[in-house]
Parts: sequence; structure tokens; C-alpha cells
Amino acid sequence: MITAPTAPSMGHPITASTRLVAILGHPVRHSRSPEMHNAAFTAQGVDMVYLAFDVAPQGLAGAVDGIRTLGLAGANVTVPHKEAVLPLLDSVDAVARRIGAVNTVVNEAGVLTGHNTDMHGFLMALERGWGQSPKGSRCLVLGAGGAARAVVAGLLSTDVAEVYVYNRTGERARELCGAARGWGGAACRPVADGDLEYVVGNVDLIVNATSVGLPESGPAAGADEFKASPIPVDMVKQHHVVMDLIYGPEPTALLRHARSTGGLAFDGLEMLVQQAARSYELWTGRTAPLETMRGQVSDF
Ligand code: NDP
Repeated sequence: MITAPTAPSMGHPITASTRLVAILGHPVRHSRSPEMHNAAFTAQGVDMVYLAFDVAPQGLAGAVDGIRTLGLAGANVTVPHKEAVLPLLDSVDAVARRIGAVNTVVNEAGVLTGHNTDMHGFLMALERGWGQSPKGSRCLVLGAGGAARAVVAGLLSTDVAEVYVYNRTGERARELCGAARGWGGAACRPVADGDLEYVVGNVDLIVNATSVGLPESGPAAGADEFKASPIPVDMVKQHHVVMDLIYGPEPTALLRHARSTGGLAFDGLEMLVQQAARSYELWTGRTAPLETMRGQVSDF
């Protein structure tokens, strides 16, 4: 009997009815998403495969059109396409529009809808790491890029007491807090350099959403590349809860210091899993097998 071929990392047969989900990025070869999603498809007997495509910026429009033409179930979109993809889609949901970035595309009969699952992933990972909701807490977000926008939107959706944003380029922090007016009940306040120490001393939660601490060669690089911190680490005390969106084989300098004080500190690996799980649910309509997905990145 002839059986359908299977890709090396997968356990279910690929047939003419198997549907494709793609990740579009540049670069993309470091992505752990194919492992997480293919393991989840196999675990639940979902007839889909997930493959990575290195798409340069000038090829993005063609690739998005390919989602329609080839009838893909959907796609993930990653750096550097998360903002550029918005005008190429038929619709964009409210969260993704608020954040200004799409990381997940769902194809329903040729109609492409953009979503952003980073906010959901952040909130789920924060609650799991902290063991409680951030409701009522004073929060400092470091950074003002796409990840910081998802974090600020997430925190403001949960009735936090206040959100401060500190960024190397102060203008971007001011812009983010301006945009965040109306995202939730709490105020969002940009932090000037001179006020940083005071603000750090008065917050409960610190979230690093900058790329500082991420080695040049990506999250899988060696330990001694994780050195820098977006704020002087000795400002961080035992009472702080610290979440660093960066994940890798070794903790960042910020996480290392926070742990050395005896405080609670965790990285962004669970956020990676949770945002993937939400994307999976959008494509399949099923609850994602979280333990299976975690198992694929447990070496990080
Ligand atoms: P962006 O490029 O959009 O933003 C980068 C941010 O880092 C900006 O605020 C930038 O400040 C700041 N920054 C960069 N270099 C420096 C520096 N040398 N000193 C001080 N600040 C600096 O990136 P993203 O928002 O997409 O991602 C940020 C981080 O979050 C990345 O490390 C990424 O890997 C991680 N991430 C993790 C996820 C997860 O699932 N765990 C999901 C998404 C992101 P400025 O405005 O001044 O340039």
C-alpha cells in the first residue's frame, strides 16, 4: 500500500486536501512557530501543515495575494511585515487596528482578516507568570514599538491603576500614550529621563518590551550576548514583578538582577506560546493543545 508522504517533523499524512498555513517573515529561519503549530496539528489530527517563507519587503503584496490564490487557511506575519501588511488585507480586527500591527491572517473563502494575538498572549503569560491579574497595579512599560503597543493595550484593557511608558526616544513614548487615550480607564503617562528612578520606585510591574537584551543573532544565541538592560538594573527591587518579553537560553541582565533580589521575574517564552495558541484557535476553531506547544520550545 502506498502512503502519503509526511514531512520529517510531522506525524500526519499530507494529502490533496491538506491545508497550508504559512509564516511570512524576513528573516524567518529562526522561527519556532512551525514546530509549535505542526506538533499541535498532529496532536489534534488537524489536516493542516505550517511552513516558513522568507519574504522580502518587496515580495509581501505578492505573498499576501498568494494566500488568497492558493487557498491557504491563513498565515502568521512577522518582522518586518507586521505593519506593512495592514493595507493588503480585506479587514483588520479592532485589537490589531489599535495596536497598528497584524501577526495573524485568517482566510475565509478568499477574504483575508488581520488579527493581533500578541496582546492576548501577553495577558495570558502575565497572569500565568504572576499568578494574578494586573488589575489595580501600577505598571511601567519599557519601549514604544509594536510589542510595547500590544502590552499597553493589554494592560489598559484590564483595569490597571496606571501605565507609564519609558522609551529611549521619548517622542515615541509620548505618541504611544497619546494614541492610548481611550483604550481603557487608566491613564498612560510617558516618562522623562529625569523622572525614571522615581517612577520605577513607585510601580509594581515592569515589562521590558524593548529589544535591549536581545542578542544580535536572535533568541537562540549564546549566554554572554545577553548583557545590556533598558534601565539601570539596580533600580529594580524585590517588590517589583518583572516580565521581559525577550526569551532565550539565558535570562537577560534585567531578569537576572530581578531574580537576584528575590523578586518575581519571568521571560517572554510563555507569551510566544500563548500568542501562537490564539492564532491556532483562529485558524482551526479548536482550543490549542498548550502543553504540546510548550513542549516544542521547552529547550529555550
Ligand atoms: P520594535 O523594533 O518595534 O521596537 C523596539 C523597541 O526597543 C523600541 O522601543 C526601541 O526604542 C527600543 N530599543 C531598541 N534598541 C534600543 C537600545 N539600544 N536602547 C534603548 N532602547 C532600544 O520591536 P518590537 O516591539 O516588535 O519587539 C520588541 C521586543 O519584544 C523584541 O525583543 C522582541 O523579540 C520581543 N517580542 C517578544 C514577543 C514574545 O512573544 N515573547 C512578541 C513580540 C515581541 P526606540 O524607539 O528609541 O528605537
